[in-house]
Amino acid sequence: MRRQRPTLIAVSTLIAVTLTTAPTPANAAPPDQVTALTAHQADGYTTLAWQPVDGATDYQIERTPINADNTPTGAPTIVGIWRPNRQINQHAPTFADAGYNPGDTFQWRVRARTGTTEQPYSDPVTATTTAPWGNPTTPGEQLRTGWETTHAAQYTTDTDEYAYTAAIDALSDRVRVVELGRTVQNRPINMMVIGHPTPAATPEAVAATAPVAINCNVHGNEPGDREACLIMARQLAFSTDPRITDLLSHTTVLIVPTINGDGRANNTRGNSTGQDLNRDYSLIRQPETTAYITMVRDYRPVAGYDGHEFGNSRAGDLPMLPPRHQNVAQPIFDQSQDMIEGHMYAKGAEAGWWACPYGCEGGGNVGLSEETILRNTLGLKNVTNSLLELRSSGGQTRPDEGNTTNNRRRKTYSALWTFHQFLDYHRADRADILKARSEAIETQAANTGRLVFRGSRPIPAHPAPHPGDSPPPLDAPPADLILDNPPCAYKLTDAQYNGARTDGPGGVGTTVAQRIAAHGWKVITIGDDHYIPLNQPERGLIPLLLDGKGVEKLTDGERVYPTLTGRRNGPLAVTGFTCADDATINGPVTVRAGAALVTTATTISGPLTAASAAGILLADSTINGPVRIATTDTISIIDATIAGPVDLSGNTTGTDAPVLAGTTIRGPLNCTGNNPTPHNLGIANTVHGPRTTQCAAL
Ligand SMILES: [Zn+2]
Repeated sequence: MRRQRPTLIAVSTLIAVTLTTAPTPANAAPPDQVTALTAHQADGYTTLAWQPVDGATDYQIERTPINADNTPTGAPTIVGIWRPNRQINQHAPTFADAGYNPGDTFQWRVRARTGTTEQPYSDPVTATTTAPWGNPTTPGEQLRTGWETTHAAQYTTDTDEYAYTAAIDALSDRVRVVELGRTVQNRPINMMVIGHPTPAATPEAVAATAPVAINCNVHGNEPGDREACLIMARQLAFSTDPRITDLLSHTTVLIVPTINGDGRANNTRGNSTGQDLNRDYSLIRQPETTAYITMVRDYRPVAGYDGHEFGNSRAGDLPMLPPRHQNVAQPIFDQSQDMIEGHMYAKGAEAGWWACPYGCEGGGNVGLSEETILRNTLGLKNVTNSLLELRSSGGQTRPDEGNTTNNRRRKTYSALWTFHQFLDYHRADRADILKARSEAIETQAANTGRLVFRGSRPIPAHPAPHPGDSPPPLDAPPADLILDNPPCAYKLTDAQYNGARTDGPGGVGTTVAQRIAAHGWKVITIGDDHYIPLNQPERGLIPLLLDGKGVEKLTDGERVYPTLTGRRNGPLAVTGFTCADDATINGPVTVRAGAALVTTATTISGPLTAASAAGILLADSTINGPVRIATTDTISIIDATIAGPVDLSGNTTGTDAPVLAGTTIRGPLNCTGNNPTPHNLGIANTVHGPRTTQCAAL
């Protein structure tokens, strides 16, 4: 194809810098020539958009470097191939061109191909691309990562990362850097806690802001997302853009740049022991995953993204996937799919990024139901979330990425786009995300329906066949990994619960008790027995670790089934561990000292009283009478209806705060002398009477 340089230079001198449209005389263009080409600049990429050509098979995007006089300074290069499977709306093709040095000036042309026949190029557009974010002379904004200063020739080193995050911490009131833990080789695992004008002061206060969490680098040899996280942290810390300050005024952004610092420093997938950390989030054998899961327990993010790179050259730019495990509550799956299909696919089609279901063409056996994968672990913890994979090579649709730095920049700036979109989605759909979360927690705590030990929900090509060509494999649960009759609880012996383990680094593992505590599950201890009831928010995850059928389990707990069902009249004195399911109990219920009562779908007509009990866990239950719980070790009341009054007094529950969530109380609520103070998991209660100070915010 001949290139008409003199003509395009003459045209391009007329064109504005940021958003340019080549003026095409109405009757001048040949019918197969691309028209109305525009180039819109954003952080690290240029969105090219044009009028589609009838009958086009695909389009080629050509980029040429030019100087200030619009004289080419290098050869024209085909940098992109637009194919119909890129985006959901075929009538408005877009392509995100990335990989160049941000701030440089280019001209672009686009042409259609019909089969192998190349049609005429469009008139060119020229523009200067957006320089790396932040005024180079403004304190804070002037910070740059090692990756930026080397023009993507080197990834930011561990020591550069710590210095960069410490500088942001020091210069921005919006940012607090907290150390979540240490890697096996003693590198800090930092998290940036970002809010406006300042982040909330404590994990519990942050949890009240419905925070979002981005895990940037779990596989040490997949560093593209981490660089995006570091750049975004600078933008969030210092930008005066009203969009940014608005976002940060309505939530807290939690960014963990490098959970796997040892793997990053050594450019290995696993940590220094060789463990793939994204196969350890449920088992938490390693200090890195323990740090993250403990953070999830304490900060309670409501939405998340988990950043990776994907070595399938035929995939889209941005393969994504929701938590698919069938034990994930339906509202969390649906909300995650809404984020991906409803938001990312649509916005990707506007910006020119090709978001698609993970796997895509020839993706292999990926994206399955292992609960050890953070995507699924978070879903089982009622967090709306997605995997993000950056296609690691340019592939057939980005033929200029044999150039390593260009390839790295495309990956990082596509991740930066995704993470900003994630924040916008949370801002717009926060109410729906919170509703999905509360419905999921109530559904889980009700402990109804089958459990599966492995098995995924299907992921459709959306809308078929765009974007992407094929979704990940079906992954239906095999019959022997389905448990139709869920137990009420798992009972562990003291040896199982507190016994030494060898499954950690150097053959030393934390105890099951410590791991259950890191997950935040309530445990009832009676004598030497430890009961983990399923009427809890993470009901879908508990059996995967404690049932003998668990594929990657911690121990073989004993299934404990309900002993109280059906109708029962007269006073009831509860001794030992008592589980009521689908029961109707007429008469006062007294839980004796050292005993425990666990209920689901149960109605108690009469007062419920517990003093110095081992535990009271009520879910999806009705108490037609007053409830009084004092000096009891473990307390959880979720989605209950209580005639009231309710009195929680003098309960000392260690590090595990009493939960009172999603419950309606038709009377006063008195909470006095509880340590720690009860909380509501972010699900408000409805209380018709007055409340005392400790429960005033519940
Ligand atoms: Zn990965």
